[in-house]
Amino acid sequence: GAPRVVVVGAGFAGATVAKYLRLWSQGRVEVTVIEPGSGFVSCPVSNLVLGGSRQIQDISRSYDVLRQHGIQMRQASVTQIDAGKRQLKLDDGTHLGYDKLVLAPGISFDYSHLNAVTGLDLQQHFLHAWKAGAQTVALKQQLQAMPDGGVFALTVPALPYRCPPGPYERACQVAYYLKQHKPRSKVLVLDANPAITSKRALFEKAWAELYPGMIEYQPVSELKQIDPAQRMVRTTFDTFRFDVLNLIPPQTAGRIALDNGLANAEGRWCDVDYVSYESKQAQHIHILGDALDSGLPKSAHIATSEAKVCASAIIDILAGQAPDPAPVFANTCYSYVSADEAMHVANVYRYDEKSREMKPAPGGGVSKQHSAGEAREARSWASNIWHDALG
Ligand code: FAD
Repeated sequence: GAPRVVVVGAGFAGATVAKYLRLWSQGRVEVTVIEPGSGFVSCPVSNLVLGGSRQIQDISRSYDVLRQHGIQMRQASVTQIDAGKRQLKLDDGTHLGYDKLVLAPGISFDYSHLNAVTGLDLQQHFLHAWKAGAQTVALKQQLQAMPDGGVFALTVPALPYRCPPGPYERACQVAYYLKQHKPRSKVLVLDANPAITSKRALFEKAWAELYPGMIEYQPVSELKQIDPAQRMVRTTFDTFRFDVLNLIPPQTAGRIALDNGLANAEGRWCDVDYVSYESKQAQHIHILGDALDSGLPKSAHIATSEAKVCASAIIDILAGQAPDPAPVFANTCYSYVSADEAMHVANVYRYDEKSREMKPAPGGGVSKQHSAGEAREARSWASNIWHDALG
């Protein structure tokens, strides 16, 4: 019969690999996608829901088009992988066999270092909104309920984490909302890193020009402890009071990968061969997107690019051929500094035979400064990538 590929996760990487496996094999590969969510919600542009210029519906898409490509969608979670038997167990109790497995589970959150608050479900008490959806809407409600003159504190984990410029874009969007509705309030950025990790000069300029005095930035400020009663946090060097705490915790590859022996020696992320995206830990299992220890920014643009390299490689391997030995792709990350101005950073990455990794290559660059023109390009970028993955 037709070879069967099972994809775990229908985020940016999983949706794209599933669609391109169908398109490029001309329907000769059977594709099943396992995803617990009933629809897709985009992290890119989700910070604008906090700013108020977008609604959650604007960044939500259905999985219908994937079905129209002949992909079987199963609404469930994978709970176990048996790499020897090439079989999955799902949370509805059923088992599913595969010829090739593609894992695209994104990230999980790691609260283990926050030992002080026992008995609290940190994830529910102090929202991350680092997976777009219900948490994005709930964080917006907390922002709306915050008193004027209040402090919205946002913690940034040490790299690597999903979307390096994302927290600083969020600071802009929260400040954009506060400037209009609660102008005596403040955004407090508590960054575990020694400096803004992406587009630093551009963010500093945008903060100074658009939100003077509203965004306080604290580098080398890893979150160590939380006192929920006093609404205080302790960081590496200091303590701070907050009204709303947006706790973006340290991250790992999605638990399903870690719990099934697919993490690398450090135990937090996964390693693959960057020509085929096959795991270094298990045969016939390919891993994509934010779950990888690739050294590249954890972005939707990179996740979808990897997905296409992987789809092509799997089709070649199933046909008994060698995959393209020299993949190359690009990444662009736009950040909105207000409702209608944005800026970007772009890079080209090329497979390097010596290190066997994707390495920065000539090309790309950064904006001179935020502008309305770049916001128009950012809107096109988003509708194009949504269409590429789910259209
Ligand atoms: P995801 O998109 O998270 O998909 C993972 C999927 O796997 C999920 O749907 C999940 O439900 C599913 N899953 C997990 N475990 C299981 C399981 N056991 N069984 C079945 N399914 C499972 N990137 C950009 O390129 N540009 C941007 O402007 C941008 N802005 C961002 C702004 C914010 C605020 C954030 C948080 C991120 C942003 N990103 C941006 C980053 C981008 O969202 C991620 O890099 C991207 O989503 C990674 O894709 P992925 O497929 O690896 O993971």
